[in-house]
Amino acid sequence: MKEKLNNTVFKIISTIAEECNIDAYVIGGFVRDLLLSRDSKDIDIVVIGSGIEIARKVAKKLGNLKVTTFKNFGTAMIKYRDLDIEFVGARKESYNRNSRKPIVEDGTLEDDQNRRDFTINALALSLNNNSFGKLIDPFNGLEHLKQKVLKTPLEPTITFSDDPLRMMRAVRFASQLNFNIDEDTFNGIRETRERISIVSKERITDELNKILLSDKPSVGFKLLDRAGLLQIILPELHNLKGVEVKNGISHKDNFYHTLEVVDRIAPHTNDLWLRWATLLHDIGKPASKRFDENAGWTFYAHNYIGAKMTGKIFNKLKLPLSDKMKFVKKMVKLHMRPISLSEDTVTDSAVRRLLFEAGDDIDSLMTLCEADITSKNAEKIKRYMKNFEVVRQKLKEIEQKDHIRNFQPPVSGEVIMETFALKPCREIGDIKSAIKEAILDGVIRNDYEEAYEYMLKKGEELGLKPVSEKPPLTPTKGEK
Ligand code: ATP
Repeated sequence: MKEKLNNTVFKIISTIAEECNIDAYVIGGFVRDLLLSRDSKDIDIVVIGSGIEIARKVAKKLGNLKVTTFKNFGTAMIKYRDLDIEFVGARKESYNRNSRKPIVEDGTLEDDQNRRDFTINALALSLNNNSFGKLIDPFNGLEHLKQKVLKTPLEPTITFSDDPLRMMRAVRFASQLNFNIDEDTFNGIRETRERISIVSKERITDELNKILLSDKPSVGFKLLDRAGLLQIILPELHNLKGVEVKNGISHKDNFYHTLEVVDRIAPHTNDLWLRWATLLHDIGKPASKRFDENAGWTFYAHNYIGAKMTGKIFNKLKLPLSDKMKFVKKMVKLHMRPISLSEDTVTDSAVRRLLFEAGDDIDSLMTLCEADITSKNAEKIKRYMKNFEVVRQKLKEIEQKDHIRNFQPPVSGEVIMETFALKPCREIGDIKSAIKEAILDGVIRNDYEEAYEYMLKKGEELGLKPVSEKPPLTPTKGEK
């Protein structure tokens, strides 16, 4: 493996370790990724002794680099070019039942490898002069890498019970690397699943995000479901499972449909929030499900219910309650609009209204809707896709013509007040919304002149008389 450690930094660490008479190894994820030819910028160095001392000497040799030390953990970190190199002394860990924080003591390389989560993450490469590049693989990790299998080094239930986050990591690696989880290891997760409750929401969510960002997120979510973890950490998604039949009429299984849509959107976007929106787009279906003798299964207003649930889920999972959540809620709320729009003749005013509501997120919404077409009927898919093309084309034309995307009222509240000598009152809002509606319906264009004339007309209908000349156009930015 010598040739794989071709970065000069490894030679430098090796020389310094030799000078200090200390053994040093590169270990864990970096070695795994090196063997899988995956790019990795995080290097973990384990030394049999003080990691901080070696880090300081290496940093000096690399050009007096800054060393960040975490004395409590006995670790030190150096940033070298685009690499993050962490140094730590080998440790032995033992756990108590109520916490995922281990009791740590100094240990050997073997102890350190024993505390790793999976055999493929326990691989180490020697940086010692007499064995530079030698692979130390006590648990057959190399073979497991070849077989694409995740397996714990020690008894699975002990490994998972000690630190239940490892269950989420198993699923995440399976999804990210497209690996299988070894049967005993998987059974260990099933058995230990309830212990996930001692893991913080932030850590769980961090793993969920990584699953969602993998090439085929359905792999991870199906595993979470089979392991019994999904029901605990995201029961709303689990509730989408199942098909009911009444009078011989069934509906689709919304869990598998959702996962298909998430897989379908993955090649088109790496935006985590659009992927979250996709995962949650039908989340309101179970709560809105009804059977009607004539209409069959209906999910009336599931998008509105879903948008509300999205807020609660974000809160519970400690996802950001900021613009990101607003975006996801908006996508969930609007996700049916382009489809229903494309089912009819696509009118300008319907497109204008969609643009008004989606604003700058219109492209994301269209991407979601296109992924949402999962029919088995090829003809139907073709028809929808064609209609979507028409919608996209119309969106372009109307945006060029009417500039609705970031709609600002062309006539401001001040102009209305000045024209009719009004103090703040309801009529101003009424006139403004009449102008907005007229623009969205295509009655007038989105421009000051036409909007001003329309305002005079509306004022007259309300019994108002203009008392001043038409003021010149002033920017109305920021007004809603
Ligand atoms: P990624 O960088 O994709 O998050 P990784 O495994 O490459 O994953 P880290 O999470 O930084 O990187 O972990 C580095 C190494 O530390 C792992 O390869 C593994 O050996 C060990 N490790 C990390 N977390 C745990 C854990 N919860 N239990 C046991 N070992 C762990």
